[in-house]
Amino acid sequence: MQKRKAIALFSGGLDSTLAMKLMIDQGIEVLACNINTGFGATRDRREHMQNMCDQVGAKLKVIDIQSEYLQQVLFSPKHGYGKHFNPCIDCHAKMFEVAKRIMEGEGADFLVSGEVLGQRPMSQNGDALNTVLNEANVEGLLLRPLSAQRLEPTIAETEGWVDRDKLEGIQGRSRDRQMELVEKFGITDYESPGGGCLLTDANFAIKMNDYIKHDDKFEIQDIPMLKWGRHLRLPDGAKLIIGRQQDENEKLQEIVNDKFIHIKTDGIPGPHCLLSKDASEADKAFAARAILTYCKTNPEQEYKLDFDGESIQVQPLASRAEAAKYSIL
Ligand code: SF4
Repeated sequence: MQKRKAIALFSGGLDSTLAMKLMIDQGIEVLACNINTGFGATRDRREHMQNMCDQVGAKLKVIDIQSEYLQQVLFSPKHGYGKHFNPCIDCHAKMFEVAKRIMEGEGADFLVSGEVLGQRPMSQNGDALNTVLNEANVEGLLLRPLSAQRLEPTIAETEGWVDRDKLEGIQGRSRDRQMELVEKFGITDYESPGGGCLLTDANFAIKMNDYIKHDDKFEIQDIPMLKWGRHLRLPDGAKLIIGRQQDENEKLQEIVNDKFIHIKTDGIPGPHCLLSKDASEADKAFAARAILTYCKTNPEQEYKLDFDGESIQVQPLASRAEAAKYSIL
């Protein structure tokens, strides 16, 4: 019999891993596609994803859709946003659309996802799932092995490529059945579900909204800017980002964004900072003074800072409270 191939939407989480395992155990070849919107977890999860794929025997492919996501989904979701900046229904539809494109390119037969009916309020209830399927034009092609027995049979089942009786009928938020499957399959090192998407984070939404209100068109290079540091909007409108700990300083140092300059303290230990390139002279001076209040400094003394090669010498503000007035969080 011809070996059938499925494209799985793979988040790196447990449910999509289990969904793939249920397929592989039925003799289906699975390509795990992780779609990178730019707003996933702040840490690099590739090693973790590879580990999960290795455990179940799927190949991993990471697909970058950041540009397409910014242009078509994030700022104009047809179905609106969830609680924060998360356009979950449109986001899912986009992911299925991309997965279908890959399916066609790879000559695969159907799609698989780890969605569970009724598990999440906005994106995974029955109506939302149907909307997503219609919009991505994947009706009948998408098999959701964890809830399949509660859903209409898909092409993979009606064609006999997959035995529906060996699929699951999970519904709701309980994780009991998933835990039984973990035990049965011997899966280890998995992550707990939920979390990971910055668009569902309240603080991230505040930073996004502030950015859109004050800055130029939002671009891919702006995504990392919003992931780390303390964010301030200065009196003349410039944005100042101040690293809070060592790991944030390191991340901020790596940022390449032609709308921002890097600022370092000169001669004293201090946070790594970024400031809007078009900051007014007054905002530059304020930024320098604000940054110094986050260093071990004496308010009576002057210190030097390096603004991308330009040296500025100022005293710190009298207190952090003066800087905090402009904090957006
Ligand atoms: S949580 Fe994030 S990644 Fe998941 S559907 Fe919503 S917006 Fe997309």
